[in-house]
Amino acid sequence: MIHFVGAGPGAPDLITLRGAKLIEKAGVIVYAGSLVNPELLKYANPGCRSYDSSSMTLEEVIDKLREAHSSGIEAVRLHTGDPSIYGAIREQIDILKKLGIPYDITPGVSSFCAAAAVAEAEYTLPSVSQTVIISRMEGRTPVPEKEKIRLLASHQASMVLFLSSGMLENLCSELIEGGYPPETKAALVYKASWPEQKIISTDLSGLAKSADKAGIKNTALVLVGNFLGDEYDLSKLYDKHFSHGFRKAVK
Ligand code: SAH
Repeated sequence: MIHFVGAGPGAPDLITLRGAKLIEKAGVIVYAGSLVNPELLKYANPGCRSYDSSSMTLEEVIDKLREAHSSGIEAVRLHTGDPSIYGAIREQIDILKKLGIPYDITPGVSSFCAAAAVAEAEYTLPSVSQTVIISRMEGRTPVPEKEKIRLLASHQASMVLFLSSGMLENLCSELIEGGYPPETKAALVYKASWPEQKIISTDLSGLAKSADKAGIKNTALVLVGNFLGDEYDLSKLYDKHFSHGFRKAVK
């Protein structure tokens, strides 16, 4: 059996209990070493073999998983954050399916959730935004034309940009040209939940400069939107004048 496991954003205690148990039982672990905190490997038993996939190809990763399976060994494929976000798991799953190798998937805490925690923010702030757009800036990896930053920016929703902190000048001008006013709140969260975590809180017009000053180029998320600001309405959920299925409004 192959277990795809979300490792969480970095802090070793932010993996799920299920994920940690699967690591404990694994005989082989193939982990995304560029971002997965090696501290997580300490949950593994001493006999477990681990391989860093950061320098491996898809075929090499599959070979390790296939070898484990044919020797009757449980294997964990450990991905950073949640594997459904830029995790490249679909291509692995499709090959395993063809090979008839059983697998399951355990979700993880994505870095966009950890970044919100660091920023003490709520993406879906009443009267500000009820939508979170997760995307990335086009770099060497293309992004479909219909999802260009400029188009997404026209919604002025809460936005989280992965894999884009090395292109901030470009990113911020696309966001502004797309519709966000330059004074829209923005933050850069570097290595959320790691000991070296940093946060820069500024606005769109100042983000690139501030990041440059702090020397942050990668392993960071860009958060954009006035959910980072101080103006919002209170929720209906806890409004004493609002009835819902679990509570009657007070008169
Ligand atoms: N599956 C992962 C994302 C993998 S893509 C997840 O759910 O979080 C890799 C990108 O994620 C990095 O370039 C960076 O933009 C972001 N990232 C991953 N871990 C991070 C962390 N702890 N803090 C800030 N950004 C992080």
